[in-house]
Amino acid sequence: MSKNHPTDPDLAAALASVAHAASEHIPDSARIFTNRTLNLANIRCIGFDMDYTLARYRLAEMDDLAWSAAAAKLIKGGWPGSVFAHKPPDDFAIRGLVVDTAHGNILKMDQHGYVGRAYHGTRLLDSNERKTLYRDQRLGRERARFVPVDTFFSLAEVLLYARMTDAMSGDDPADRTPGLPQCSHQELWDSVRAAVDESHQDGTIKSHVVKRPELFLDRNDELKSTLQRLRAAGKRLFLLTNSDFAFTNQIMSFLLGPEDSDSGWKSDFDYIVVSAGKPNFFFEGRPFIEVDKSGAPRGKSHAVIASAQPHAGGSQAGLQEALGCHPDEVLFVGDHIYADIVRSRRSSGWRTALIAPELDHDTQVRRERSHAITEVEVAYETRSRVAEEIETYLHSLRCAAETGPTPGCTEDVGKSVDQTTITERIDALRAFEISLDHRLSTATEAVDRAFNPFWGSVFFERYGPSRFASQIRDYACVYTSKVSNFLLVSPNAYFHAPLEVMPHWSL
Ligand code: IMP
Ligand code: MG
Repeated sequence: MSKNHPTDPDLAAALASVAHAASEHIPDSARIFTNRTLNLANIRCIGFDMDYTLARYRLAEMDDLAWSAAAAKLIKGGWPGSVFAHKPPDDFAIRGLVVDTAHGNILKMDQHGYVGRAYHGTRLLDSNERKTLYRDQRLGRERARFVPVDTFFSLAEVLLYARMTDAMSGDDPADRTPGLPQCSHQELWDSVRAAVDESHQDGTIKSHVVKRPELFLDRNDELKSTLQRLRAAGKRLFLLTNSDFAFTNQIMSFLLGPEDSDSGWKSDFDYIVVSAGKPNFFFEGRPFIEVDKSGAPRGKSHAVIASAQPHAGGSQAGLQEALGCHPDEVLFVGDHIYADIVRSRRSSGWRTALIAPELDHDTQVRRERSHAITEVEVAYETRSRVAEEIETYLHSLRCAAETGPTPGCTEDVGKSVDQTTITERIDALRAFEISLDHRLSTATEAVDRAFNPFWGSVFFERYGPSRFASQIRDYACVYTSKVSNFLLVSPNAYFHAPLEVMPHWSL
């Protein structure tokens, strides 16, 4: 629709006068993108997740930390230390992947659940292997076997699983590590999961982060200004995190000021919910219990959050009642595609904003490679048309070969054609198709490599949205790279969804 130019001169002039939209001064990496129209003027309460939402962790440092913490536990459990001497490159693990724990494979799916790429460990499966395993496979069929990589916290698990699968497969002689435990792909996944889980729960990871937060977190002065501006515009703000109070307090103190100071982080929120247990928070009826400075529970539990003091546990219904507004007047901002976005949208009716730092890189590559991306699009479109034209000619040849009336063959199809000319035309088109195929795959590979050498763009797979992108499209009302991007727009901004089009509308 945006490609259409109005024929009415008044409308064309009006369009030209607003061509430089208010958002144009905003850099690509700070834009807020809209899937579903959202009027911030109608939003009375805004909730924020903490980890990877308000708190922007440095991915490489966090991956290293989780890798070392979990590897130490796996070594204790009998794995040879040499297995963990080489970590796969950090960009081998991205959000939106799916781990097939039955086969030791890591997959990237398109919006329909079709597996576009698959690695066994870090070895790319060729298309025959991939199709043999996944032609008929869709995530929904065997949910327990497929583990979606929904959060940045899971990236280290992908790296560990890939590395250990490589060691087990022994494809590379350097990987024939003596002393490997015998286990199935599923058991291997379970060991990795348990080691990472324990590293989070026993404080191995968190103790490093709180000791030197400046090594693991980007502090951004605009974050506090963003919260203050939203509040000054009359919004009630709440924090809703799965982290416990002690950790939350340390991280938020680092980001927004120590808890006891007048302008400390607690003063930025109307309600604070820690150890929330999302996604279950959205559909179970757990009570809230206030926590003291040390994080210990204090007093009785309540179904409805009772004060501005930090509370642990709780439920969406209990928070909703305290907020005193309709669910569609609440915007929840989070990074976890399932727990914060898909599940909260389905269960609570809250509006949703996804934080996707991947947009920084994605928008930059898209801009830098715009010519190459256009070439891919044009080659793809041309190839489809060539294939269609070949089929039309083949059809007329088939019709010409029929003696009597044939369904689909009218008088003018096939009967009056010069078969030699058509055959020559088909041969030429086939040659063109082959050269287009070659051009398309070379151009696509170059573009993919610019996004990510293993997976291409996190948002794209097989000439359309990736599974991850389709979840964002379906469940996140808006998405943006970081919370402070809200500082660049009015607290009452109206985010308009683009007009949606169906293929037949452009006829
Ligand atoms: P949120 O994003 O603020 O809701 O918090 C996420 C919390 O989940 C952080 O405290 C993480 O340390 C924690 N976490 C992430 N992965 C795991 C896990 O595998 N096991 C236990 N806790 C985890
Ligand atoms: Mg989070």
